[in-house]
Amino acid sequence: MDYKLTMGYYDFRSKPVSFFVEDLKELNKKVREVLGNGNYHSGVSIQHMGELFTVMFSQIEGTKGSPNYKQYLGVGAKIVGTRTMHGSVYHKLNAYEIRVWGGGAAGPSLYAETIICEHDEPLPEMIAKEIYTAIDDFTRGVVQCSHCGTKIKKEEVAGRYFAGVYCTECWEGKYKAIEARETYN
Ligand SMILES: [Zn+2]
Repeated sequence: MDYKLTMGYYDFRSKPVSFFVEDLKELNKKVREVLGNGNYHSGVSIQHMGELFTVMFSQIEGTKGSPNYKQYLGVGAKIVGTRTMHGSVYHKLNAYEIRVWGGGAAGPSLYAETIICEHDEPLPEMIAKEIYTAIDDFTRGVVQCSHCGTKIKKEEVAGRYFAGVYCTECWEGKYKAIEARETYN
């Protein structure tokens, strides 16, 4: 069985980031206790104009001195929590990788960004707007090339590679060859 929390965009954009990286994990744990084993997704689904969008948040963390730790603290991230695993202390940072896919589990990647923002507040206005634009465009048949960012109609998608969708220029120029190599070797 599949379980994933579904919400509307305005509900999504009003929740603090901590909801997606903490509360949601707790919620999934409870569901698992009640329903037993199954496929539980740690992301949420946004329902918008009759389409479903999968959203995943990953919180960046690292042990003291690790590359992640140094890199993100160096650009203004703060430590917002810790966890201990196998005797190592992992510092959780207020840096998050956010990914959005359109039209169900196997859908194209619509949005992927790593951002630094307040842990206990909703997403910054600008990021929320970018996500809205990506999902709203998708309901109107428009997607963004995963390489160059150009907006194209769904029927103009020249090729796909994993969750990426590409315009003719990027597909012919680069990704077609990559995809062919992966497929035939
Ligand atoms: Zn392109």
